[in-house]
Amino acid sequence: MSSRGTLFTVSAPSGAGKTSLVEALVGSMSNILVSISHTTRPKRPGEEEGVNYHFVTPETFHAMVARSEFLEYAEVFGNCYGTAQQWVEDTLNNGMDVILEIDWQGADQIRRLLPDTVGIFILPPSREALEQRLTNRGQDDADIIAGRMQKAINEMSHYVEADYIIINEDFDDALEDFKAVMRAQRLTLDNQQARHGSRLEKLLS
Ligand code: GDP
Ligand code: ADP
Ligand code: 5GP
Repeated sequence: MSSRGTLFTVSAPSGAGKTSLVEALVGSMSNILVSISHTTRPKRPGEEEGVNYHFVTPETFHAMVARSEFLEYAEVFGNCYGTAQQWVEDTLNNGMDVILEIDWQGADQIRRLLPDTVGIFILPPSREALEQRLTNRGQDDADIIAGRMQKAINEMSHYVEADYIIINEDFDDALEDFKAVMRAQRLTLDNQQARHGSRLEKLLS
């Protein structure tokens, strides 16, 4: 495939289900990859270096900032998170779609830098459900969960900046919605012309 892939940002308050939905989506669609962010946050039980994140020290992170290696970076919940630029560029240029699971500050930076980016926001069905999911996930201490709940309302207020809103009430329904967004994006005039240029030309010649 010769056309450049589409860049998607997926944002949500912590616990809304973005990691689970992105994992399920990537497992069921071809030609799409998720960028692995760099973070200074400590590893959670079960997380693996290079799979969930590249876990780095603040010193390494700041050195990468100084070398302009991030497409975007932001401080979230007191830790630094950033998206490595080179990998995203190379992957898009190879015709693959790329998902960035990033907070609203990062999505805002990306939108300014690359206006063709498609923004998706995932919302929980209610605040109570969000708190329940953070608790059920069982990976963060009570004070961390309380902090994330407090910041959830601010994060959620940025849903208006996205192109698509998915409410993750029933997981399978939300996954179908997510797939529909990705598929629709592949059918836009620009993307279809890039992918099927010669076929479209032959239809009219
Ligand atoms: P989660 O929200 O439970 O998945 O917890 P994490 O600690 O994995 O992520 C915390 C926040 O950081 C979430 O809002 C993520 O979207 C955001 N985040 C993760 N990676 C990046 C990144 O590379 N850049 C930015 N700006 N935000 C990120
Ligand atoms: P995020 O990456 O947004 O922080 P996760 O994908 O880690 O969220 O999901 C948070 C928790 O909620 C996980 O334990 C996940 O299994 C659960 N979860 C996700 N979607 C749903 C849903 N639709 N209904 C019930 N639980 C869900
Ligand atoms: P600048 O924003 O000018 O690129 O970075 C200035 C300095 O701020 C960096 O050298 C680094 O020490 C610090 N810094 C950059 N990004 C972050 C961040 O996301 N979180 C925190 N806590 N510090 C940062």
